[in-house]
Amino acid sequence: MARFYGRAAVTRSTLRDLLNAFAAPRQGARMMNLIRDLYPICRSITGDGNRQTITRLCMELDLQIHEVPSGTPVLDWSVPDEWNIRDAWIKDPQGRKIVDFQKHNLHVLGYSQPVHYTLPLEELEPHLHSLPEHPDWIPYRTSYYNPAWGFCLPDTQRRALPPGNYEVMIDADLAPGHLTYAELVLPGAIPEECLISVHICHPSLANDNLAGIAVAAALASLLGKAKLRHTFRFVFIPGTIGSITWLARNRERVDRIRHGLVLSCMGDSGALTYKKSRQDRAPIDQAVTHVLQHSGAAHHIQDFSPYGYDERQYGSPGFNLPVGLLTRSPHGTYSEYHTSADDLDLVRPEALADSLRRLLEIVEVVEGNATFVNQFPYGEPQLGRRGLYDGLGGASDRNEQQLAMLWVLNQSDGHHSLLDIADRAGMPFHRIAWAAQKLANSHVIKPLEE
Ligand code: ZN
Repeated sequence: MARFYGRAAVTRSTLRDLLNAFAAPRQGARMMNLIRDLYPICRSITGDGNRQTITRLCMELDLQIHEVPSGTPVLDWSVPDEWNIRDAWIKDPQGRKIVDFQKHNLHVLGYSQPVHYTLPLEELEPHLHSLPEHPDWIPYRTSYYNPAWGFCLPDTQRRALPPGNYEVMIDADLAPGHLTYAELVLPGAIPEECLISVHICHPSLANDNLAGIAVAAALASLLGKAKLRHTFRFVFIPGTIGSITWLARNRERVDRIRHGLVLSCMGDSGALTYKKSRQDRAPIDQAVTHVLQHSGAAHHIQDFSPYGYDERQYGSPGFNLPVGLLTRSPHGTYSEYHTSADDLDLVRPEALADSLRRLLEIVEVVEGNATFVNQFPYGEPQLGRRGLYDGLGGASDRNEQQLAMLWVLNQSDGHHSLLDIADRAGMPFHRIAWAAQKLANSHVIKPLEE
C-alpha cells in the first residue's frame, strides 16, 4: 500500500473518482497481506503485541501513537496493568509439552497471571477451557479484570488427558506499564468529524478483528487521496477500555463527531450487517441503510442494542454519539467466532474488498449530503435554455439523469436533503448528487443557509 498521507501537494480525487478506479482484486490482496503479517502477533488490551501491530500499520499510515499509563482514571474505569507474555506450556506426567503457546497464542487465557506449578489433573481442570461442540478448535478466552490463569485447548485433547501430575508454566508480566492506541486524522474542509473505530486487542483471530483493522487501514489510505469535507479520525484501540480511554481523553472533541462507524468482522463471506446507532435515525444510519439497499446484495439492518463492540461506549447516554456498527457476519452468530477456526481461511479477499467498497460509498453519501433550495419553485424552471435538458431524449442513462434533476427540483424546498430525495426517488445517491451539482452550477438551486 502506498504511503501518501502527509505528502505535500498531492492532487486530490473525488470519492466518485476513487470508486470508479476501485480495483477489488488489488485491494483485497493488499488487505490479505496485512492480515497475514498481523495474524501471528499475540495482542491483548495492553502490551507489546499491540505496539508491534501499530508498528506494522505505520508502514501504511502516519499514525499518532498514544501511551496511557496504568492507573490513569478513565471515566468510571482505570487503565489496567500492562500484560506481556513470553512463553507458556503444560507438560504431561511424562514431561512432554502437550500445550504450547509457541504453537498457538490462543492456548493461553488472555491476561493470565504468571505461574509455575506442578499439580494433579483434578486441580488443573478448573484452569482448562475447551469447546465440546467444536472438539478440534481452541477457544479464545480472556480474564482482564478478574485475576486468573488458564489454558485453552481442543476438547478432544482435554478429554484424553491421563491422571497424574502436570507441570504448568506461564512466563508473563502483569505490571504497571501503558495502554497503547493509535490515531490518524485526515483533515477536511470543516472541523466536524467522521469517526472510524476498530479494536486491536485480539490475538491470532483473523475476521475478528484483523479484517476490521485491514479495512480501516485501506479506507484511511484511500481517503488520504481524497478531497474531504469532514475531518476523518481513525482510531485503532483495544476494545472497551480503549474506547473508554479515548472518550475520557477527548471529551472536548466529542461534540464534533457528526458520523461514526465501528468496523468488525469485515472479511467473512456473510452478508453485510449494519446495527444502527443509539440515535436510530442519525444521518449515518440513513446513509448506511441507503448504500446497502442499493448494493444489489443481501444485507441486514438491525436496531441498536447495548451489546456488541465499542459502539456501546460511543452510544452510552452521556455521549450518545451517532456511531453504528458495520460487520459482515455479526459477532457470536458464526461458529468460528472467538475460536482458532477464525483463521486466515475464514477471511476472503473479495469480502474485504466488498466491505471497503461499500464504506467508500457510505463516505461518499455522508460527505456529499446537503440540502438545497429551488430558486424557481413556481412551475418547473426551463432547463433547455440553461443547457440542462436533452431535448432529443436518447440513452436510458440520460433519461435517468433527467429524472434525477426533476426529483432534485421538486424536493429541494429546504426540508429534504439529497439523501432524502435519493431515498424517495429510489435512486442511488451519487445520481441525485450529480443532478444537484449540475443544477447548482446553473444557479437553479442553492444550498440552504444553515
Ligand atoms: Zn471479539
